[in-house]
Amino acid sequence: VENLTVSRLRLDLDENALVAGLARLFEPAAKQLGALGIGDDAAVLPGRPVRVVTLDLLAEGEHFRWDLLTPRDLAIRALEANLSDIAAMGARPEAAFLAVAWPVDRNSRRALAELLSGLAQHARRRRVAVLGGDTVRAANGHALLGICLTGIPHAGGPVPRSGGRPGDVLAVTGSLGGAGLGLDLLAHRTPLRGAPAARAVRRFRRPTAQLGAAPVLARHARALIDLSDGLGRDAPRLARASGCGFEISAAAIPIDPAVRSLVGEPGRQLRYALSGGEDFELLAAMSPKKFTFVRNELKKSGVAFTAIGTLCHPAHIYLLVDEAGGRQPWPEQGWDLFEPPPRRLDARPKTRVGKSTPRTLHTR
Ligand SMILES: [Mg+2]
Repeated sequence: VENLTVSRLRLDLDENALVAGLARLFEPAAKQLGALGIGDDAAVLPGRPVRVVTLDLLAEGEHFRWDLLTPRDLAIRALEANLSDIAAMGARPEAAFLAVAWPVDRNSRRALAELLSGLAQHARRRRVAVLGGDTVRAANGHALLGICLTGIPHAGGPVPRSGGRPGDVLAVTGSLGGAGLGLDLLAHRTPLRGAPAARAVRRFRRPTAQLGAAPVLARHARALIDLSDGLGRDAPRLARASGCGFEISAAAIPIDPAVRSLVGEPGRQLRYALSGGEDFELLAAMSPKKFTFVRNELKKSGVAFTAIGTLCHPAHIYLLVDEAGGRQPWPEQGWDLFEPPPRRLDARPKTRVGKSTPRTLHTR
């Protein structure tokens, strides 16, 4: 694939490099406005109140397939993906704007009605006011759904990715890998039996952003990011933005109980946790003095909060501590926008974590 050139700017077709290039391109305008622009989970607009704004686009064939999701699932996933970015700023959602490109064929009208009614219902549930947008015919037959969401920071917010300091605890809400397993189960048409399989598929089809954790994290976290591309890719993003390196203990990573139950080999469990993506949990950096207090506060609302590592000097970067206490280079993996074939459809990561083993699911 050719590299794009925008004026004097070279944009590599790696998602991180592309975002960095876009940030450079548009930074002067953001500065002039007094805004935090490209490169965080959401932009921050000055004013009273300060507002955070995010936009997420889902493309048929790239991010979703109709044999794996219903239109209602898609509506919920699209909204939750945006809600997760709002939570990752330590904010609460406010208003949404929709962009829909929809194919015109025999089933599409009904599917669109199902999508929009699902969205309306879910937006009410999440207290989001849909205020506008645009709908067009998708000439190539592939649907697109974009949602722009605004939010208002909780007290102590907004929390950027860049506030972490060496010595900060890295901690994650909930558990990881469930959504990636759910996608694999659906994509490989594995017969779905038992509660763990149902849990994994539900995490993929109907994710839940950690909005409830945002007020506590807004007050106490120095840096926040949501895990949409997987810990493998998102942890380095937070660390880099904070000018830090990090060390994460593989044994400390909270693996989704469905992954523990259905995936036999520990290395493969870890791979789901690192590269599964779309778990929509939050990764926080905070002073070690605050961790226990925050964990207890989150526990009251039923959210697990697990310390998995620490931020450190930038030279000490991307090291994974294995269970024997040894260190490995950080396996930076997860969704990548331009990594062919699309991870979301193929569901076979190229890199393995731990020992190489055959891909078999042990279903109990
Ligand atoms: Mg995000």
